[in-house]
Amino acid sequence: MDFLRPATWEDALAAKAEHRDALPIQGGTDVMVEINFDVHRPPALLDLNRVTDLTTWDIADGPAASRGDDPPHPPVDMRGWLRIGAGVPYVRLIKELGDKLPGLAQASRTVGSPQIRNRGSVGGNLGAASPAGDSHPPLLAGDAVIEAQSAARGTRMIPATEFYLGVKRNALEDDELIRAFWTAPAPGPQYFSKIGTRNAMVIAVCSFAIALHPEERRVGTGVGSAAPTPRRATAAEEFLSAELDWEGRGPLSIATAQRFGELVKEAASPIDDVRGTADYRKHAISVMARRTLTWAWSDFRDGTIRKEAS
Ligand SMILES: Cc1cc2nc3c(=O)[nH]c(=O)nc-3n(C[C@H](O)[C@H](O)[C@H](O)COP(=O)(O)OP(=O)(O)OC[C@H]3O[C@@H](n4cnc5c(N)ncnc54)[C@H](O)[C@@H]3O)c2cc1C
Repeated sequence: MDFLRPATWEDALAAKAEHRDALPIQGGTDVMVEINFDVHRPPALLDLNRVTDLTTWDIADGPAASRGDDPPHPPVDMRGWLRIGAGVPYVRLIKELGDKLPGLAQASRTVGSPQIRNRGSVGGNLGAASPAGDSHPPLLAGDAVIEAQSAARGTRMIPATEFYLGVKRNALEDDELIRAFWTAPAPGPQYFSKIGTRNAMVIAVCSFAIALHPEERRVGTGVGSAAPTPRRATAAEEFLSAELDWEGRGPLSIATAQRFGELVKEAASPIDDVRGTADYRKHAISVMARRTLTWAWSDFRDGTIRKEAS
């Protein structure tokens, strides 16, 4: 097996263009498990750990640079958004961005163990594209956009809603790498909830994220491990966005919370597997949807965004 170790992002893109079957490796917490268990034996590994700008983040002061994607897709003014390198490990997301992205920080806290959170990254979670990956629901709820690049075509901005194509399949071409993901600092309360068979070191039986976007009078959602891909519950979002008393910050009715839970459940299409049955997942998703909505709306009424302590 060849081992490619580019020192710069440009070299990494060039190496990927030349060796399309090279498997990128960042934290290695998925890649090394698969190699050790002989699930996968790629002809080459493309080690991204020397590319230091993959482990930086900043606040964007302009739209994403775009060469291959003109006009940039999506046509959103991303000034003020966070641009987070694909290789920033979970432990740093929690510590450095917990106050700006509480939903993603809560999800990051549930990933594996301290060792896994020290190495694992959202870029790797996106690369693996498991329906059970914990970063996906908050990325969907927060309208995240994935910045992919290739040497030949430059930058492609892929909304998270278009990134997940199937079980462990994503929208990357074989010469593309994920450079970063973009998401706005939380404009309102965000929550993530996950059910596992125990509290730590567990792959989600199912998971759910909610993000309130009060200025737009809108709710974002993300459903995890309850369909072939992570997905939004769009009918539930539309119902709730219209139903909530954004102006008066009035109380949440039980009927609204229940209907929201029902609509989230209808958006799921889970399977029976070793971790849980489809019926259990559907039930659990609706309970998590109601609970997280109750917490988020209560924070909104109190005028707080829950800060994720490091
Ligand atoms: C014990 C254990 C517990 C775990 N628990 C959880 C959990 O609770 N929740 C959870 O979601 N996951 C869990 N995982 C899975 C894993 O830790 C996560 O998916 C993590 O986010 C992977 O990140 P990484 O940087 O280690 O990725 P890597 O293993 O380096 O790569 C993963 C995939 O992404 C691709 N990739 C990496 N970087 C890029 C890039 N820049 N561009 C394109 N493709 C790229 C790789 O080629 C590979 O296909 C666990 C794993 C282990 C071993």
